[in-house]
Amino acid sequence: MTEHPVLIAGGGPVGAIAALALARQGVAVRVFEADAAIDESPRAATTHPATLEMLADLRLIDDLIARGLVARTFQFWDRPSGQLIAEFDHAVLARDTPYPFVVQCEQHKLVNLAIERLRGFADASYEFSAQVTEAEADAHAVAVTVRRGNRTERVTGSYLIGADGGRSTVRKALGIAFEGYTFPERFLVLTTPFDFARERGCGFRSYFSDPDEWANLFKVAGNDGRGLWRVVFPTLPGETDEEIFNEDSVQQRLQKFFPKSGTYPIVHRNLYNVHQRVAARFSHGRVFLAGDAAHVNNPIGGLGLNCGIHDAVELAGLLGKVLRGEENTDQLALYDARRRPINVKYVQEQTIANKKRLEAKDPNARAENFAFLRRTAADAAAHRAFLLRTSLLESVRHG
Ligand SMILES: Cc1cc2nc3c(=O)[nH]c(=O)nc-3n(C[C@H](O)[C@H](O)[C@H](O)COP(=O)(O)OP(=O)(O)OC[C@H]3O[C@@H](n4cnc5c(N)ncnc54)[C@H](O)[C@@H]3O)c2cc1C
Repeated sequence: MTEHPVLIAGGGPVGAIAALALARQGVAVRVFEADAAIDESPRAATTHPATLEMLADLRLIDDLIARGLVARTFQFWDRPSGQLIAEFDHAVLARDTPYPFVVQCEQHKLVNLAIERLRGFADASYEFSAQVTEAEADAHAVAVTVRRGNRTERVTGSYLIGADGGRSTVRKALGIAFEGYTFPERFLVLTTPFDFARERGCGFRSYFSDPDEWANLFKVAGNDGRGLWRVVFPTLPGETDEEIFNEDSVQQRLQKFFPKSGTYPIVHRNLYNVHQRVAARFSHGRVFLAGDAAHVNNPIGGLGLNCGIHDAVELAGLLGKVLRGEENTDQLALYDARRRPINVKYVQEQTIANKKRLEAKDPNARAENFAFLRRTAADAAAHRAFLLRTSLLESVRHG
């Protein structure tokens, strides 16, 4: 179809899915991943209905479900009183989507699945330990410099996708501003096999509002399928890594969350800087930004990667049409024109509101939030409208 492949900087979930979506259309593609192996640190797990539909088109859905957990509902709790405020049930979307649930599947499993599938395409390659250090483009082609150990190579292609994460080299090479802000607190993720469903009646996705220390709780399958729980807390601004990670403080945080006899077994402890930022543009000529390279947000609501996968699928569709000659190259401008406002409206706005709802300190604001959640869950039409938005179905149907 083209003698020059589409080049992808970054083989995280967005780069790997973009590559698969291109390869399935017969487009030659090369992915350059800086790391030597897939990063297994606990990040995205929640895969929403809109994204499940896209992964079904890519024939990944059955494997994703097999490696993950199906969660139909999610819950809002008031942490100080221990009261369940509202439960939302994706079953109300049964007429809107074939997938009225989320799948909790760790993002490294999705990357591995996509890489396995890419092996079936002769014109697709996924290269580890290959760091893109420079990127350039003119009206006819793109070129990247790839460093492998102490060797560098210049590789040319037809188009370049920067899927190289929040610190994107490609975005910086294009001189595109990453507008927004970074929160003063960081997010601590503690992973434990302690069964919060059996012992405490929590759902697989539970959000806890608290004026002092909000929390999120998720269940994932884990690599052995036996189940792990991730508990997310905000740290205090200025708290050092040592203060956060030492065994006493980790145990205290969990015991304050849910007291139990004996210590909590902890299998991972991870700390993340959290931002709300959007690239000033998502493309420049033959170069495109997708996923965290284009936008980052706080993880409350589980939307960042979902939106990144939507970027990847939409961009692959557009590039395929242009490379097959079905569309003019000027149609590629649609990518920035559509994806940037969608991210601002459906991901930035929602995640900022989600965080405010959980951390609200004013008792009146908290009472209003709880009244809104109870009212929404109790009314069938409002319940459906709320879930259409949180599941990103509204963004793909009307965005
Ligand atoms: C605690 C936490 C929980 C989250 N939960 C959710 C969730 O439930 N749902 C959700 O939708 N999102 C969630 N997210 C967000 C999600 O993790 C990110 O949006 C997602 O990782 C973005 O994927 P990506 O492929 O764009 O970027 P990344 O995952 O950052 O991947 C980028 C890849 O590019 C590689 N790379 C970087 N620079 C270069 C270079 N110069 N050359 C070559 N390769 C390079 C990196 O090694 C990496 O493999 C969460 C995030 C956090 C921190």
